[in-house]
Amino acid sequence: MEVKTSLLDNMIGVGDMVLLEPLSEDTFLENLKNRFDHNEIYTYIGSVVISINPYRSLPIYTPEKVEEYRNRNFYELSPHIYALADEAYRSLRDQDKDQCILITGESGAGKTEASKLVMSYVAAVCGKGQEVNKVKEQLLQSNPVLEAFGNAKTVRNDNSSRFGKYMDIEFDFKGDPLGGVISNYLLEKSRVVKQPRGERNFHIFYQLLSGYGLVVTEKLKLDRDFSKYNYLSLDSAVVSGLDDAANFRTVRNAMQIVGFMEDEMLSVLELVAAVLKLGNIEFKPESRCNGIDESHLKEMCELLGTEQSVLERAFSYRTVEAKMEKVSTTLNVAQAYYARDALAKNLYSRLFSWLITRINESIRVTKTRHKVMGVLDIYGFEIFEDNSFEQFIINYCNEKLQQIFIELTLREEQEEYVREGIEWTNIEYFNNAIICDLIENNQNGILAMLDEECLRPGTVTDETFLDKLNTICAEHQHFESRLSKSSKFLTDHSLPHNCFRIQHYAGKVLVTAGFVDKNNDLLYRDLSQAMYKANHSLIKQLFPEGNPAKVNLKRPPTAGFQFKASVGTLMSNLQTKNPNYIRCVKPNDKKASHIFTDSLVRHQVHYLGLMENVRVRRAGYAFRQAYEPCLERYKMLCKKTWPHWRGPAREGVEVLLTDLQVPTEEFAYGRSKIFIRNPRTLFFLEEKRKR
Ligand code: ATP
Ligand code: MG
Repeated sequence: MEVKTSLLDNMIGVGDMVLLEPLSEDTFLENLKNRFDHNEIYTYIGSVVISINPYRSLPIYTPEKVEEYRNRNFYELSPHIYALADEAYRSLRDQDKDQCILITGESGAGKTEASKLVMSYVAAVCGKGQEVNKVKEQLLQSNPVLEAFGNAKTVRNDNSSRFGKYMDIEFDFKGDPLGGVISNYLLEKSRVVKQPRGERNFHIFYQLLSGYGLVVTEKLKLDRDFSKYNYLSLDSAVVSGLDDAANFRTVRNAMQIVGFMEDEMLSVLELVAAVLKLGNIEFKPESRCNGIDESHLKEMCELLGTEQSVLERAFSYRTVEAKMEKVSTTLNVAQAYYARDALAKNLYSRLFSWLITRINESIRVTKTRHKVMGVLDIYGFEIFEDNSFEQFIINYCNEKLQQIFIELTLREEQEEYVREGIEWTNIEYFNNAIICDLIENNQNGILAMLDEECLRPGTVTDETFLDKLNTICAEHQHFESRLSKSSKFLTDHSLPHNCFRIQHYAGKVLVTAGFVDKNNDLLYRDLSQAMYKANHSLIKQLFPEGNPAKVNLKRPPTAGFQFKASVGTLMSNLQTKNPNYIRCVKPNDKKASHIFTDSLVRHQVHYLGLMENVRVRRAGYAFRQAYEPCLERYKMLCKKTWPHWRGPAREGVEVLLTDLQVPTEEFAYGRSKIFIRNPRTLFFLEEKRKR
């Protein structure tokens, strides 16, 4: 990293952790806390930005701040997310380098806010003009739309993103935005039918009921009372500080700007209403056709243009088609509920994917694009008491991101060394490829085994899956299981039955049952066919596999398979770009300002791999600085260079360091920069300056 004056002058604590001396987890935390207490929420690790959620609005995002950071070098001003955004944008515009901004951190740490800050900064500094402004508006306004449908109040965050998002913003050769492409990852669709205590369903349900005037009651035939709907949790339906009605207006407005037609918007809301009605359909064991509660079914069918008898049948029977024959079995009440919830989850998540496709159509780039900036706002490591399939998948994604982080950081270092003609010194680091392999290996990785088990004929349960895992993974150093009869971990009585534990780079995660069902993500064909028959253009599009002319006897790809594939695509996309990292940290779990809970932050420092991050940055040469500013800053320490050095700056620095008797192994001369191995050398120079 380069050192410019502002990082050393008038700084609260140390603005860059690479300069921290001595470096330990305690001093690291102390420095973060010290800065946080002084409203300095941003701290660097080299070019990585650590951001601590202030939980209040700070006056640091004004247009004046934008101007201040505009076109300035990264280390010239105090750490700020704008400095990172500016650096990324300029190197995209001026050096033709595709960029990606990778934002990670746990729920509530401020990832989504950070991604919006980056987007709005870039929007503020790039070109102007009517067409460009329209593109910018559309890109920015895609956020409220996606948040309404993909975010929810959870116990950790009142506006928690329940999906991962990656957005490529595409620019022309002048650096003006042309449009973009959004990809989404794993929407938490189980939330549609059930929410944990103290949490809500996706915002849009409440927004629709609170804010759409007569359309809600007359056209959609909905009741404004949340408590009338089984799928809406009651204990936390109203969130203080969250105005659902006002937000609905924002969302409608945003949808208009993004380019949704009035009838499209209505179609979308009809489906949202249909999900609510679907949740109210009840089944009773005693009567024919599972005693389906007619009134809600009728309303739902009217809304979707489906025949009631078709849906009734789909909730009563399940047809399995083999090569030559069709076999129908009756569903019992529990299965009917399962089918209902599966339909609701599928309907909603497909609607969400459709929204993204629709937004992408609007913001699609038709001209030749020149450069791309990708922004990734994705869930961080999740280590809960109960971890299921979702956490397993999310943590796998983080493991991949860590891998790419190390690869790219080292690559960047290596490239710089080559550019500067400095000998490359090997850096010791923990390579997590072994954990990724445990999960994703095509033959015996956990995901492959899960798929194999899910597709196997016969009775498949979490138990049979765990048995299989156990036989194959028992010896893997990053895997432990309680089920194992022979496993060396059998004595670990802290591990409950029917679960396994993975040693991630961020910590051990105990994963419990629920894999087979979630990976299968089964929607009975009778239901997709019923949906396809609907006289509603949008819903028809969402269930193409229900088209009887296109019956596909093959099983649809499993959830795990799809996720692995999309993570693979994401990784190869990121590989081609220059990475910029924002690591978000949550200071407390009260959503409160001014509170810094040590233990909580320490935990995050661990699993964000921040110490590892500093170590990689400090390995080899911790600092580098161009010769001119280096000479300028320290020339006063030597008679031969003070007040003026007439020759080339590089020689001046050489004279200076020799005169000060800095040991030669402490530095190396690059083509344009001096490389300093240890922070202590820098502090030695700084101390001398002060005397
Ligand atoms: P999740 O993983 O649940 O989506 P997240 O990391 O995206 O969480 P955000 O939604 O970005 O978290 O932030 C949570 C809340 O914290 C925001 O709604 C906002 O109130 C506050 N917040 C986050 N960053 C900032 C900031 N820079 N300034 C002021 N408030 C912030
Ligand atoms: Mg978020």
